[in-house]
Amino acid sequence: MPHITPISSFTDNYTWQIREAGGKIAAFVDPGDAAPIFRVLEEEKIEPVAILLTHHHADHVGGVARLVARYPNIQVFGPGKEPIATITRPVGEGDVVEIPGTRLSFRVMDVPGHTSGHVAYYGHDALFCGDTLFSAGCGRLFEGTPDEMHASLKKIAALPGRTLIYCAHEYTLDNIRFAKWVEPGNLDLLVRETQAFAKIDQDAPTVPSTLAEELATNPFLRTDVPTVVATVEKHAGRRLSGEAEVFATIRRWKDDMY
Ligand code: ZN
Ligand code: FE
Repeated sequence: MPHITPISSFTDNYTWQIREAGGKIAAFVDPGDAAPIFRVLEEEKIEPVAILLTHHHADHVGGVARLVARYPNIQVFGPGKEPIATITRPVGEGDVVEIPGTRLSFRVMDVPGHTSGHVAYYGHDALFCGDTLFSAGCGRLFEGTPDEMHASLKKIAALPGRTLIYCAHEYTLDNIRFAKWVEPGNLDLLVRETQAFAKIDQDAPTVPSTLAEELATNPFLRTDVPTVVATVEKHAGRRLSGEAEVFATIRRWKDDMY
């Protein structure tokens, strides 16, 4: 039912615009920069009513103050556990965000790891997960522990496979390049790489993906796959004791490489 479109900002960020099909009322997820959003609002005669923030990093919240200054009625939803001065409606696990003037609503999930109060928004078969889960990758651990991030990814992995993953960055090709080190024999991954190259050649976003695609190709969601465990243990040079440790080792491996 929702009509969801990306607005590019900086070098590789996406702000997601959410509307009802045919509607002129919109919510924006993670507006790091206001300028490209002002352009869309003017060109398409859109009325912004809500902002949904996933975490406090500047490339996700940097445009909020200017948007609110021009449109004072915008409600700003964001993680209650993070220091974001522009939030008017703090949210956390289990809260439901209703987009004013629409029938759209999203359930809040706490997904700590990239930052300690990071949230995601789930509804209408869409997940807005900021810098937690990426297409073929996951966010860096700036504040949280590997265990926290692993638990957050497990929580996301339990959603229906058809869920569309609207992450906040265009990192797919870089992520696939690393994922191939972990799973050189994963044919689904090679197919995704071909598709991603084709999209980038056309200047089109590679996102959203589906959760089912991520489960088949994203090494950070595949910490229970025996071939993955074997490769990661070989990289570590020792036995690893469970999925969280496999996750932590893959995360460190990628951090060291790029
Ligand atoms: Zn971030
Ligand atoms: Fe970011």
